[in-house]
Amino acid sequence: MNTPMPAIFIGHGSPMVTLSRNIYTEAWAEIGRTIPHPKAVLAVSAHWYISGSAVTTAASPRTIHDFGGFPKELHEVQYPAKGSPELAEQVKKRLSPLSVERDDSWGLDHGTWTVLRHLFPMADIPVIQLSIDRTKPPSFHYELGRRLTSLRDEGILVIGSGNIVHNLRAYLWENSSAQPFDWAVRFESRMREFMRTGEDASVIAYEALGEDALLSVPTPDHFLPLLYVLGLRKEGEQVSFPVEGFDGGSMSMLAVQVG
Ligand code: ZN
Repeated sequence: MNTPMPAIFIGHGSPMVTLSRNIYTEAWAEIGRTIPHPKAVLAVSAHWYISGSAVTTAASPRTIHDFGGFPKELHEVQYPAKGSPELAEQVKKRLSPLSVERDDSWGLDHGTWTVLRHLFPMADIPVIQLSIDRTKPPSFHYELGRRLTSLRDEGILVIGSGNIVHNLRAYLWENSSAQPFDWAVRFESRMREFMRTGEDASVIAYEALGEDALLSVPTPDHFLPLLYVLGLRKEGEQVSFPVEGFDGGSMSMLAVQVG
């Protein structure tokens, strides 16, 4: 049997990160060069955070510039990967009896394309997205990841895109290399420890970390994609952290790879 595809959570940070060559974009490119070539990508992005579960079914998904106040250059980026209606059907099937809508209006949001344009610059791998149902608890998202595990045996790369620590209020826009806040470092290192030791239940119950969790995860949208990736981990598999660092003091750029 072939080695299963890894599953990867990427800390995407500010959309501006994608424009330059920096330690993060270089590391994303390196991941793209070292993992087996996927047949298709299923992305779970923090930026498709809606009421309900949906998958993108467009054959040619549009590049969505779902942000404001950034330079024209960023609005002009296109990521012309094809979609995969077949993979969308597979995902629906594996998540059944959960009802998953077919959505041909959403495309690739910036949680997905800012990262993929470095991982796979040729945009020659089909990409679909699965929404994050905002009405559900963390355990639900982990469970969906579990149900999708077999996709890894079929050459599908699942990418979660968010940030383990994501506090825009505290973010230092003028100083991206600022020292990270103590609470951010504490929260991220606890999460790393839980992941290393396979204590997924403690990651799911991240709110138990009190004030540090409130500051690091003021809203769950950027944290939840991590739970899909952890759910995709197979028995005995290691977790590694191929990208590390903090941006603007309050954004963890940590990437988490299983397999
Ligand atoms: Zn984001």
